[in-house]
Amino acid sequence: MSNPPAGVAILGSTGSIGTSALRVLARHPDRFRPVALTANANREALAAQVAEWNPLFVGLVSDRAPEPGAHGADRWHCGAECLVAAATRSDVDIVINAVVGAAGLSATMAALRAGKRVALANKETLVMAGELVTATAREFGGTLVPVDSEHSAILQCLAGRQPREVRRLVLTASGGPFRTWSADRIASATLGDALKHPTWMMGSKITVDSATLANKALEVIEAHHLFGVPYDRIDVVVHPQSIVHSFVEFVDGSVLAQMGVPSMELPILFALTWPERVPDDGVPPFDPVGLGGLTFEAVRVEQFPMLGLGIGAGRMGGAAPAVYNAANEAAVEHFLAGRVGFGDIARLVAAALSELGSRPGVGLDALIAADRTARDHVNGAIAGIAIMDSKGTL
Ligand code: MG
Repeated sequence: MSNPPAGVAILGSTGSIGTSALRVLARHPDRFRPVALTANANREALAAQVAEWNPLFVGLVSDRAPEPGAHGADRWHCGAECLVAAATRSDVDIVINAVVGAAGLSATMAALRAGKRVALANKETLVMAGELVTATAREFGGTLVPVDSEHSAILQCLAGRQPREVRRLVLTASGGPFRTWSADRIASATLGDALKHPTWMMGSKITVDSATLANKALEVIEAHHLFGVPYDRIDVVVHPQSIVHSFVEFVDGSVLAQMGVPSMELPILFALTWPERVPDDGVPPFDPVGLGGLTFEAVRVEQFPMLGLGIGAGRMGGAAPAVYNAANEAAVEHFLAGRVGFGDIARLVAAALSELGSRPGVGLDALIAADRTARDHVNGAIAGIAIMDSKGTL
């Protein structure tokens, strides 16, 4: 091969997407070389990756670097700034942004401004600041390619088509672990219940988002920004087998679907090589008979209020999507820490949206302020619950 391997930065390299990405890169050493790896706080896992991959840049957001003088210590960079530093290096061509939550926004913006390809697994970035992110990509020549399986599916179905040829996008949702549960049973679901996703192995935040269907709301907003399709032409259907990753319906009534086994390695590889496809044997061969059957159901919207709240926030625009996203992140954190119940997530987010959702959201500073205020709102509400709890009045 004549071209040197493309330099890749993986932000969030120790998480579920990051480790899948490294497995993909390991199969394609002639095409890709990881030059920068960053992690949030998992220092041991990051050190093991550094020993295996020997990247030129190592970033650790929330922990200390190794002692000066330790082997390779000069490559380690600490603090939140390491994400932008990794994403904008001159030897980086592709940034895989797999940071969890709104913390990934500044790196996405900086990479797009530097004209890089951003393989985006950090959907919160597009939810919080979709207009800004897509405008920045257009203005500076950066490329935004989705890693999310649904959006990768849509991108694949849209190949060569014009926007005027698209009638509707239909995102599939596994339905999560509570697909068939009653509303009462869902409201009292435990953390263990919520973390048992039926088809995908993922980090804990996105797994909880999949149980509330907040993840699907975030994906509808993400699809709106990535493909420029209005909300009334984006639908969601439950598909428990997670084989059809999404549909595109065209103006002539024809429908394309993209299918594959539920492995994130497929959309990760496609985000790296798009619009090309390259040979890869990372997943087992497709066996339609072995699948048994593919089924589709309507979403039970009353049982999963986070879906409607999120799509409503998307339609409202302004600061509402940033408020929805930040309130959800904060509420899920409290749920993961055992401080609130599963049913409280939607209540906390609804309260934050009704208080803060109509704020204007023009410009990055306004969106960051909305994000912070929404987190404070949720934290304040939970502090109130804790006080009531301690007085025994709840
Ligand atoms: Mg997805």
